[in-house]
Amino acid sequence: MAQARRKRRRPQIDTRRKKIDCSFCKDGKSVDYKDITMLRKFVSERGKIRSSRVTRLCGVCQRQVSVAVKNAREMALLPYISVSRGKS
Ligand SMILES: [Zn+2]
Repeated sequence: MAQARRKRRRPQIDTRRKKIDCSFCKDGKSVDYKDITMLRKFVSERGKIRSSRVTRLCGVCQRQVSVAVKNAREMALLPYISVSRGKS
């Protein structure tokens, strides 16, 4: 699986680290699991947590967001991934 793919050449990408402009660190906000409108930005349509590559959050805030989303799910504020697979 992974080994078969390894031979494929990667396209030349700028490997320098991009500066992370984390919206939480920038504004000094804290992650709150009750703030659903904010959490919705970090969750896909299907209810999956978006990756930090997409959300552009730093590692600390990304972890806080993922915990907050899980808390919100437990409190029935956000849905679990409910859409059945295979169907569009
Ligand atoms: Zn941050």
